[in-house]
Amino acid sequence: MRYIEKGASPDFFEQEKVDLQQDPNWDNLHCKPALRRHLMDEQKHLCAYCECEVHEANSHIEHIVAQSEQDALRFDYHNLIASCNGVQCDSEAKKAYKPEDVHSCGHKKSDWLNAALFLNPVVETEISCYFDYDATSGAIMATNKNQPKADYTIELLNLDNLRLRNARLNAKAAVVASVREFRKIHNTKTVQEITGFLLNKPKPPAFVSFLTHCFHV
Ligand SMILES: [Zn+2]
Repeated sequence: MRYIEKGASPDFFEQEKVDLQQDPNWDNLHCKPALRRHLMDEQKHLCAYCECEVHEANSHIEHIVAQSEQDALRFDYHNLIASCNGVQCDSEAKKAYKPEDVHSCGHKKSDWLNAALFLNPVVETEISCYFDYDATSGAIMATNKNQPKADYTIELLNLDNLRLRNARLNAKAAVVASVREFRKIHNTKTVQEITGFLLNKPKPPAFVSFLTHCFHV
């Protein structure tokens, strides 16, 4: 997980919140498609939880603290992020994995969360320090910074499932292939320089935290 630096809430959202004051129902919010695009841009199109690439078809607006838990946070911009849908909407991918490996992120998270343990990606500026990875299996695990918090967050969001492990390994293989291609053209560049370039682009690749761990950039 990465820290998400929230910018100012967009004007179109703030304006519609004023219009909805008489009936503050999430279902009545018309600007959700634009808001979701705004959130995805803010997150460089990576799921706030698992870091897979998110786009229109595989994402939703996620209330970090559920609406049912805190009414006051329903329209709070700092409580809203873009999450992937796991593979809930993808029937082919669903068939490929056991049910316990299908669900993750926002759709896995229960409405109730233990705020004392949950690592909130818009609050914890050092959130990446809580997580470590296994470069061979693609597993995510806790560092010793605060194991109870990291373990709770991994479990709540199901971030260590087989589907995500495989996706991380595929992302790593893609970087290895890109480095090979890159070196054919720029043979004076070191592997370290090329991976640094690939992982530090303005739009980072999916699973960038895992890749940074693998390639030590
Ligand atoms: Zn996700």
